[in-house]
Amino acid sequence: MAFLDDLQKTVTDAAYYTAKKTSELTGAARVKFNIKAEEVRLKSTFAKIGSLFYSAEREGLDHTEEIATLITQADKINGDIAAYKEKLAELRKANTCSACGGKVSKSASFCPNCGAKIVREEGEEKADDNDYDPLFEDEEDEDEDEEK
Ligand SMILES: [Zn+2]
Repeated sequence: MAFLDDLQKTVTDAAYYTAKKTSELTGAARVKFNIKAEEVRLKSTFAKIGSLFYSAEREGLDHTEEIATLITQADKINGDIAAYKEKLAELRKANTCSACGGKVSKSASFCPNCGAKIVREEGEEKADDNDYDPLFEDEEDEDEDEEK
């Protein structure tokens, strides 16, 4: 019954992400939200592909075209997720000057706008705490692992 449990969870996730207002989110949090939403879509697309395969096998129905369409859809979703992840990486590279609020690169020691020294706390994710969402916790861990 693991498959049904997964499906149930996917439906719950989808409802949650639809209910939550995207407009409340900004910057990295918004991109992360988009990634999550696309991942939910991808899961449900895979579930549809799976059930079409099952019905083709068990009922002898030809779902070749539907499956091909869904696979194209999954490719597009995967592409979107990759683009969002790239955007997220870019956003994380960017940093903000505490003196003037201007954008500075993550490696900069001084602000190119006002010349102030860039002070950084340990853990670059601090800025995201405003948008903290326990559902994004796993992703944060993943990201940290990737950076190591
Ligand atoms: Zn500055």
